[in-house]
Amino acid sequence: MTDSKIRVVVVGANGRMGREVAKTVLNDPLLELVGAVDRSLDQVDVGIVTGYGETGVLFSTNLGETFVRSNPDVMIDFTNPNVIRDNVYTALDYGVRPVVGTTGIPQEDLQAWDGILREKEIGGVVAPNFAIGAVLMMKFAAQAAKYLPHVEIIEMHHDQKLDAPSGTAIKTAEMIAKERQRMEQGHPQEEEKLIGARGADFEGMRIHSVRLPGYVAHQEVIFGGLGQTLTIRHDSIHRESFMPGVAMAAKKVMAIKGLVYGLENLID
Ligand code: NAP
Repeated sequence: MTDSKIRVVVVGANGRMGREVAKTVLNDPLLELVGAVDRSLDQVDVGIVTGYGETGVLFSTNLGETFVRSNPDVMIDFTNPNVIRDNVYTALDYGVRPVVGTTGIPQEDLQAWDGILREKEIGGVVAPNFAIGAVLMMKFAAQAAKYLPHVEIIEMHHDQKLDAPSGTAIKTAEMIAKERQRMEQGHPQEEEKLIGARGADFEGMRIHSVRLPGYVAHQEVIFGGLGQTLTIRHDSIHRESFMPGVAMAAKKVMAIKGLVYGLENLID
């Protein structure tokens, strides 16, 4: 990393997460906001939209053009699962390091991006959850599964979320699956009277998604054993919970090659 500030373009910068991210970058002495891209906001000062005050950085709807004009080191993307692939490939074409919070990314995309990043000898980060408390919840859950292998995950999010189950729930299930044998849970003859009643099945673990106004991002991992249950719960009650992780990733990505998947792999 050089002494100069890391030049950052935020994509989805008018979204719920994107506005927080833009403010975080503007307030971080090691980062410089050089571009803000969103689907339908053009030529408006990003500082006005985020409440930071005038910055001279104007929104654009054109990602490639923004890269050419602003020559960034890092793209931070919080958009949606339908556009993330195009955005990352555009970043890779321009040699810009992707830091991705957008969830719902298929495994094969992650592998393909890792290959390209290694070829280009630059880094990228994809984290389904940038909140440190959520990362700890996932680690503790993986630890607990060694001793209490019967587990169900309930994740709760605001009702505007596009993907289900959440990236965090899938990542939690993946981490638990590494620590326990695949097993069927519940009664072998159980029958769903309404389709979906038992939730999604990940290696025998059940995942339930709740979508309601009022929630931000919450998850419970419930373990059941003989005569006991254990619940590990994390609540993001404000989107600022994700910001220290995002800012850290934007800095650490400068020193890595290839793709790091999951915040836990950046802090260990
Ligand atoms: P949001 O409020 O809908 O924001 C997404 C923004 O992206 C919107 O302003 C949208 O514009 C814009 N957009 C859509 N297509 C675009 C394109 N092609 N180019 C540029 N901008 C585009 O959603 P959110 O709640 O901020 O969440 C964004 C993503 O972050 C979701 O995938 C969510 O699951 C994820 N998330 C991740 C974490 C984490 O820690 N990793 C935490 C919270 C959320 P329009 O409104 O005009 O479509």
